[in-house]
Amino acid sequence: MMAQYLALKEQAADCLLFYRMGDFFELFFDDAKIAAQVLDIALTSRGEHGGAPIPMCGVPVHSAEGYLARLIKAGCRVAIAEQVETPEEAKRRGGSKALVARDIVRFVTAGTLTEEALLEPRRANVLAAVCEVRGAIGIAACDISTGRMELEECAPDQMSAALARLGASEVVAPDTWDHAPGECVPRPNRSFGSDEGEVRLKAVHGVSTLDGFGQFTRAMLAAAGGLVTYLDHVGRGALPLLLPPVAREAGTHMAMDEATRSSLEILVSSGGARRGSLVESIDRCVTGAGARQLAEDLSAPLTDARAINRRLELVSWLHDDPLLRGDIRGILRALPDVGRALGRVVAGRGSPRDLGQLRDGLSEARRLHDLLRGRSDRPEPLDAMLPSLAGHGALCDLYSRALVPAPPTERSQGGYIAEGYDASLDELRRVSGNARRAIAALEAKYRDDTGIAALKIRHNGVLGYFIEVPAKHADRLMAPESGFTHRQTMAGAVRFNALALHEEASRIAESGGHSLAAEEAHFEELVAHAVRAKEAIAATAAALARIDVAAGQAERAAEGGWALPRVVDEPCLEIIGGRHPVVEAALAAKGERFVANDCALGPQDRLWLVGGPNMGGKSTFLRQNALIVLLVQAGGFVPAQSAKIGLVDRLFSRVGAADNLARGRSTFMVEMVETAAILSQATERSFVILDEVGRGTSTYDGLSLAWAVAEAIHSINKCRCLFATHYHELSRLAEACDSLSLHHVRAREWKGDLVLLHELAEGPADKSYGLAVARLAGVPAPVIKRAKSVLEKLEKGRAATGGLAAGLDDLPLFAAAIEAAEEKVDALRERLNGLDIDALSPREALDLLYQLKAQANG
Ligand code: ADP
Repeated sequence: MMAQYLALKEQAADCLLFYRMGDFFELFFDDAKIAAQVLDIALTSRGEHGGAPIPMCGVPVHSAEGYLARLIKAGCRVAIAEQVETPEEAKRRGGSKALVARDIVRFVTAGTLTEEALLEPRRANVLAAVCEVRGAIGIAACDISTGRMELEECAPDQMSAALARLGASEVVAPDTWDHAPGECVPRPNRSFGSDEGEVRLKAVHGVSTLDGFGQFTRAMLAAAGGLVTYLDHVGRGALPLLLPPVAREAGTHMAMDEATRSSLEILVSSGGARRGSLVESIDRCVTGAGARQLAEDLSAPLTDARAINRRLELVSWLHDDPLLRGDIRGILRALPDVGRALGRVVAGRGSPRDLGQLRDGLSEARRLHDLLRGRSDRPEPLDAMLPSLAGHGALCDLYSRALVPAPPTERSQGGYIAEGYDASLDELRRVSGNARRAIAALEAKYRDDTGIAALKIRHNGVLGYFIEVPAKHADRLMAPESGFTHRQTMAGAVRFNALALHEEASRIAESGGHSLAAEEAHFEELVAHAVRAKEAIAATAAALARIDVAAGQAERAAEGGWALPRVVDEPCLEIIGGRHPVVEAALAAKGERFVANDCALGPQDRLWLVGGPNMGGKSTFLRQNALIVLLVQAGGFVPAQSAKIGLVDRLFSRVGAADNLARGRSTFMVEMVETAAILSQATERSFVILDEVGRGTSTYDGLSLAWAVAEAIHSINKCRCLFATHYHELSRLAEACDSLSLHHVRAREWKGDLVLLHELAEGPADKSYGLAVARLAGVPAPVIKRAKSVLEKLEKGRAATGGLAAGLDDLPLFAAAIEAAEEKVDALRERLNGLDIDALSPREALDLLYQLKAQANG
């Protein structure tokens, strides 16, 4: 057995091997140690190997899913080795001692789950494959629980942003690729070929050209090759549901990098949970599929005004009609997860219950169709969706006739095909039903015949049907002419058989076997119907999800008094009475009120410097505006009185290093890397929020960097920007930068206490209130007193020297300063470019190096 185990383990490589033995999956060696620890189950041992006992642990097959879920969550991958023949077959093949053949039937990995119990209903489960083809990155992503597949190409520096948007739970990449993203599963390089990808996709969809699906680049196809090959590998040749690939075009979605996503806490809050995130505060979807679609909308807001307006039109229609919205949500609430049921059915892991879910889901979709079709005022985007909601009449009819009302998840017991669907099945059931009744009658007859009232006919897996009497009555049945044959003696009871009982029991077994086989055959056929209609069913599921998202957005808007935003072309950001949905909810829970604030950025006033005390509401203000932009472009209402937004191509959000201490890498370094990305990528159509940039270093460094960054954003990037800072000195930027204005969050000192008003006002902040905030936070009075006297000394010194920013008056203008710096670099570059290195002797080379260094120093 160990030889068989070790051979399988070799194939399972970096997976834990679940080795099927009877009713258990057993794990051995290191696998057992890992599993025992993760699952907190007993580690035992068995036999020996190489002179030492073999560590072992096991989980029961019937509850394996729960254990698998925990292992996958802990980052493990699992290979399932099943028995692929029965013990009888093994005996026939190799004699009485033959070992049952086993094989790995499936690899269970985070990105390839379809089981309801292993998936989160409100989150998509994405598997991505990434590779590089001649300088371009190809990404193929799919959610095999619903079959959606998307291909895209991007530049290498956009790869991490693209992956962040996808939020994949598993990423595969070529094993020979040096720049593969961290934490990915290495796969053979040859599977990432564009030819391979094309051939695979054609085969999956049974087409001779992919043109009908869209235009795909070589990088996209290569990634698709890697993805499909991997799915083939983990499914051991059985491919899951894959819908035709969709090419994601560059520029159709608002770009956000990973730092922006995490700082805006879109899908998860800073603690890593859904609680406290944007999506949690706006998600009012009543189906899991709707919630998944909403999360995707928020991860990839649109940049096309027409597409955004189409979404808004639907939300607005549902917003204005609460009764209709209620009806729609009522229907949706009862819906099973059609997309995921289809995913399991097509992957060959479907159960009768999944077919029942398709039946119920598709008939409810029809009901929704009829409800919406009856409305003459429906908006155009809905019209386009209506046909996908209907059209499954024949399938629903078939499933309604074929299946019982609530089919089971288990197939092995049968009983899921409805009566009246198949006359021969009904007959088989009648025969076994008659035989069961006959057995009940036999029990009464045997009691009469023998006079033993305690006689019972019972059933177990080993003996089948048998007659049992208490031991004290056994003698009567033991008599040779009694008509009973002895089977087994237990403590206190003796078991017998009888001819009539044997006959009825055989009838049950035979008809039972036949009816199981008949139900199996029907099941296969019903599955085939769903597989044939998979694309139409997936389209229905997608339409249902879209309607749920719109109705949910409308519900949220009605609940919070949100406004329908206006999308315009010029680069403005005019928000009146804007609020932060998450902070507002948190305050409401404590019975406190959120103070709404306006924002008005436009071509003449693109950059707002926001000052004011800590805790005054600067970060909240910055983020609420970024979130409002995101919500608008995702196609929803916004928490504001009104909002007029010029489309944003890229959104950036950065928080000064001190807020990100948990990140490991030098936090200031991280801050600067992220700031560099903004300066190189933000365009005139971008929107940037910068919160206390420069805070992570000394005062002078920090101030200088914040100054230069603000100037660059103003004069070079020219994007819309909100810049929160506590450096007063930055207010002097307003003198030189035309499109920059000063704002602050208001605070008052009242009877020696600081009152934070969380209200935005124009003009620079008057003072920093740092000490007052410290007192508010409970820093002891003697410390505050001491700080006050230190501050006085410092301020005196500052007044004497002209202040921290004393030397800034004669600073050349930003653009001029840059030119000067560049000139110098260019002279050096010219000299370097003109060099013929091969023609230099080592001595000359060294001399030259000295000269270059001198030149560089000026
Ligand atoms: P800052 O960035 O100025 O240090 P924050 O934006 O982090 O301040 O806000 C600090 C706290 O003040 C928040 O956690 C919130 O409780 C409260 N707050 C912020 N903005 C508002 C507002 N507009 N209305 C009411 N309370 C607010």
